[in-house]
Amino acid sequence: MSRLRGIRGLLLDVDGVLTAAGRPLPGAPRALARLRDLGIPFVLATNTTELSRAELAGRLGEGGFDIEPAQIVTAPVVTAAYLRGAHPGAPCFLLGAAGAVADMEGVRFVEDEGQVVVLGGADPSFSWQNLNRAFRMLLRGAALVAMHRNLAWRTAEGWKLDTGAFLPGLEAAAGTRAVVCGKPSPAFFRHCLAVLSLPPREVAMVGDDLGADVRPARELGMVGVLVRSPDSGPRPSQKGRGQPDVVIEALAELPPLLTQRSGA
Ligand SMILES: [Mg+2]
Repeated sequence: MSRLRGIRGLLLDVDGVLTAAGRPLPGAPRALARLRDLGIPFVLATNTTELSRAELAGRLGEGGFDIEPAQIVTAPVVTAAYLRGAHPGAPCFLLGAAGAVADMEGVRFVEDEGQVVVLGGADPSFSWQNLNRAFRMLLRGAALVAMHRNLAWRTAEGWKLDTGAFLPGLEAAAGTRAVVCGKPSPAFFRHCLAVLSLPPREVAMVGDDLGADVRPARELGMVGVLVRSPDSGPRPSQKGRGQPDVVIEALAELPPLLTQRSGA
């Protein structure tokens, strides 16, 4: 597979690549172990906002994946880096992502008078009352930052509406536009590349979402590998321009392709 020649590191999406609705996909734990045996460094690149990196590593460990928290980049991690740089010390009003604040060191959270409204993944905190509080802060000039604009996500209990179903209304009402820090923002992928310490041309992004994983990675010069998810559900972002470099049915297909590249 010539498109994977020269690939020295990987960014791996979690949901749809390693797991589906939190459960390990068949063959995925063994494939990850194989990548480790081959000495190919990888970073898990996920928009999840529910869990801290340590909790996610623990949960993946229960599924048979051997992962260190430092190998995980989440939307809250990149959002915190953005807030520390663009709004140092500013009081931030956070909705969603309460479980991930352990990964947001240096960010000051407040219940009122936020100068930055920060939206994590949608959860019961996205009540009319709280969204209206956020709306009033925006009207007073607060900045709007979102961890992602995902429309829906798949859980063990079924599909759930996500932030992208609420954010456009807030933006339209307040006459503003959110800065998005998770996938597909270039900042997210640059953060992951910095963790790997590799240039984009030597890295492949492996994901099940063309719009959130494959296309933005390719735009930065990475190789895009699409995993065809058997149940990708409502994914409007799959439509449109841009094709993956490589398409696989499961992560288990990847290690043999990477070893072929050396011509062995
Ligand atoms: Mg995915």
